[in-house]
Amino acid sequence: MSLDIQQIRADFPILDRKVHGKPLIYLDNAATSQTPMSVVNEISRLYTTEKANVHRGVHCMSQEATASMEASREKVRGFINAESVQEIIFTSGTTEALNLVASSYGALLKEGDEVILTQMEHHSNIVPWQLLQNRRGIVIKVVPVLDDGTLDLDTYHTLFTDRTRVVSVCHASNVLGTVNPIAEMAEYAHSRGAVFCCDGAQGVPHTKVDMKALGVDFYAFSAHKMYGPCGVGVLYGRREILQKMPPYQGGGEMIGHVSFKGTTWAELPYKFEAGTPDFVDIAALSKAIDYMEMLGIDNIATYENELLEYAAARIREIKDIRIFGTAPHKCAVLSFLIGDAHHYDTGILLDRLGIAVRTGHHCAQPLMERFGIEGTVRASFAVYNTREEIDTFIKALRRVAEMLG
Ligand SMILES: *Cc1c(COP(=O)(O)O)cnc(C)c1O
Repeated sequence: MSLDIQQIRADFPILDRKVHGKPLIYLDNAATSQTPMSVVNEISRLYTTEKANVHRGVHCMSQEATASMEASREKVRGFINAESVQEIIFTSGTTEALNLVASSYGALLKEGDEVILTQMEHHSNIVPWQLLQNRRGIVIKVVPVLDDGTLDLDTYHTLFTDRTRVVSVCHASNVLGTVNPIAEMAEYAHSRGAVFCCDGAQGVPHTKVDMKALGVDFYAFSAHKMYGPCGVGVLYGRREILQKMPPYQGGGEMIGHVSFKGTTWAELPYKFEAGTPDFVDIAALSKAIDYMEMLGIDNIATYENELLEYAAARIREIKDIRIFGTAPHKCAVLSFLIGDAHHYDTGILLDRLGIAVRTGHHCAQPLMERFGIEGTVRASFAVYNTREEIDTFIKALRRVAEMLG
């Protein structure tokens, strides 16, 4: 099925606005995607008719709010094909989900235990492990990135020892777009007795994600990058492993019984959900999933790939363009530099022309160091972007190249 992009765009009124008097061309989707009216309306409906704290109310509205939140948990479970709703933990985002894993699974690690990361990780999949390193004396090892932006898998295999406990890798790079072979990497980690955690912030928005097929132990993602609301993330965790882990934070919701003699924990997944959750946005996440499923995730992926290929071919028309990330299997992210022009200047000039791109290190400074640069310009696409927008973007880049060249 091919998608009707004009009809899709009508679901995102923000796309009709102007910036500096020019029609907005929004190419910063890897930072956050826009939100369709079905999600906005659901947030509005919940605030207007159903706002009550979840899980502890006898009254009708509290029970309705609880039902909406738990229905969303079941929706997420089905969406990523997890075994049980006990494996779906709501967090504030990918960052919190990864901190939860590093902190709580990390509490089971001992000095000298090893964690394998990669050179293309987002800071949120690096710094939590460094905090753990400071607390527990673990050792961090890093899989290098090859020139085309793929992982050096031969080296990956050689990094394992009998002390390797955790491997944590992004599903797709937010800078290079590289989609990593997660199922194979997880299978190898398991064969060496390590658990496998995947940062799926750039996976879920662009591709069908199936916990059983990927075979990972943890998978983290953010609602705001998949057409959903801000402030909500998901941590999938395999039940047997979550059961062994101590709580991440203490407070309401996460307890069985509290006494000054000793406190017991709630059942999964509540053990890991201390305090009042963002129940409105959690409930509204289910509408974002409905939206993606209505379009069809394979249709979204196919269309975004077409856009990426078109943009990648056309951008090569620009003189002195340098593209970072040319892996055969990519999600819709295009990082580049024009000649010696500073990424920031390029971004500012594009903004004056109504085009929103991201510039800088993209929370991946070790990757910048790998390529010997300080930052890139990044254009990232979503299902509502069009070829016409890419044509305008290329024309604008030509102008920018002339001005800065
Ligand atoms: C955006 C992003 C994160 C962090 O997500 P938050 O929503 O800011 O918590 C982590 N990893 C990758 C690959 C990302 O793109």
